[in-house]
Amino acid sequence: MSSKIRILLPVKRVIDAALKPRINKAQTGVESAGVKFSINPFDDIAVEEAIKIKNAHKDKVESIHAVSIGPSKAQDILRVALAKGADTSTLVDVKDQEVEPLQVSKILKKLQEKHNSNLIILGKQAIDDDSNQTGQMLAGLLNWPQATNASKVKINADNTVEVEREIDGGVEVVKASLPMIITTDLRLNEPKFVTLPKMMKAKKKPLEILKVDDLGITLENRLETIKLEDPPVRQGGAKVGSVDELISKLKELKAI
Ligand code: AMP
Repeated sequence: MSSKIRILLPVKRVIDAALKPRINKAQTGVESAGVKFSINPFDDIAVEEAIKIKNAHKDKVESIHAVSIGPSKAQDILRVALAKGADTSTLVDVKDQEVEPLQVSKILKKLQEKHNSNLIILGKQAIDDDSNQTGQMLAGLLNWPQATNASKVKINADNTVEVEREIDGGVEVVKASLPMIITTDLRLNEPKFVTLPKMMKAKKKPLEILKVDDLGITLENRLETIKLEDPPVRQGGAKVGSVDELISKLKELKAI
């Protein structure tokens, strides 16, 4: 294996994390009209980490390629990834079609082959579908080691990678050789804002647009969304005047 690192960065366009999603009238999905979309927050962390790795290992990191599978508008988030420091990018234009994690993984496998990537950094989950599956499925398809929910990543001189994962009651450290898959957790880093001059410069960086047909893949979803419902509205609470009153109230409700 060559000692150079070629990073693949899958980034998904999702409803901005600061917004509260609303269910559409037909109850088939989330309302997307007139809503702000941004890069999935965990993918933003992945972009930041890839740039950090590149800055720390300039001689080793050959390329960072960002890829998004989504509508034409997903070009916006690829431009953000390019402005932050990715070198090149691909949009796999699927128009408005929902693409399930297995399909995403199959597309990413094709792109890994095309770019000969040996380190793929994904978010641990997309905040729209909350699947938390793509990285794991891609590792399965490629038969690569995977370190999910990374809170620290260290690349060693011999191209082994040590990843810290926060687990219940402690930290787990796993180690693997490239090629490998990493998925990011919230505490891995704090993504920086991108400046306007960098956004302007990124317009000149390569952004290739492909269709799934170009990759020899046919999209077949296995799940059908029957219906989406809002959670029941929470009942208002009541105030009690003393601890005794609280205890008798809890007894009355058979909570204790
Ligand atoms: P999920 O398994 O859907 O929760 O997504 C986990 C991660 O897979 C995301 O954080 C992204 O890094 C990647 N991913 C999922 N869907 C897409 C997509 N449509 N385009 C690019 N990357 C994606």
